Amino acid sequence: MNLILLGPPGAGKGTQAKRLEDRYGLRQVSTGDMLRAEVRSGSEIGLQAKTIMERGELVPDAIIIAMLAARVSQADVADGFILDGFPRTVPQAEALDLMLQQKSMPLHHVIELQVDDAALVDRISGRFTCAKCGEGYHDSFKQPKAAGVCDLCGGTEFTRRADDNATTVASRLEAYHRQTAPLLPYYASRGVLRVVDGMAEMDTVAGQIEAILGPLPQKG
Ligand code: ADP
Ligand code: ADP
Ligand code: ZN
Repeated sequence: MNLILLGPPGAGKGTQAKRLEDRYGLRQVSTGDMLRAEVRSGSEIGLQAKTIMERGELVPDAIIIAMLAARVSQADVADGFILDGFPRTVPQAEALDLMLQQKSMPLHHVIELQVDDAALVDRISGRFTCAKCGEGYHDSFKQPKAAGVCDLCGGTEFTRRADDNATTVASRLEAYHRQTAPLLPYYASRGVLRVVDGMAEMDTVAGQIEAILGPLPQKG
């Protein structure tokens, strides 16, 4: 099964994508994570993307589309993927359509996580991540069970994203409304758009998504 999770920054796309990876055996493809890896490695793409990301603007379509095309050609996504943070513009969505068509890969659902702008600022300012395994946490909504220790891997170091600050959030939200929101009618007109209340608690949101996807695959 191939899915897109669509929604503003901080809506919970990464959180839900990770749960779907575990429960449905799908592969999360996050263009934000890929770009941050490029920045860390100091690659050509990383150098181009760094300042744009720090400003909370979108990286040019050509760079993103080439990066995504290379990623969906890899074998590990063949059994199903969850696109998290891509597409973010109409040209990206059109390029994706073409890519999937050429590979005869269907797009099953586009799931929109709807969250109020005011809630997004709180979500983004409280977000932190395990440095070792990448598990996501939140100062108010999801603390590790034992303070300072990752629930999943026992790691004790955590990171906060450079762009998760109040100033950058404003331009990221602006970019979402202006450049990404037009994808909602784009996918609605194809009959693949499903809307989920992203304001609900994480488990409730996960339940709404599972209801759309259908029964969990049988293990073994
Ligand atoms: P996105 O990938 O859409 O930017 P994340 O999944 O990283 O969003 O979530 C942003 C922050 O909000 C994280 O700190 C996460 O723990 C928290 N969060 C995610 N979903 C919810 C929810 N339903 N209710 C409250 N907090 C949430
Ligand atoms: P969030 O879901 O919190 O907005 P992401 O990790 O998805 O964060 O993206 C972080 C930044 O990376 C974005 O603000 C943007 O600069 C860049 N980026 C990620 N995905 C794309 C994309 N598909 N197109 C353009 N820029 C992107
Ligand atoms: Zn961890």
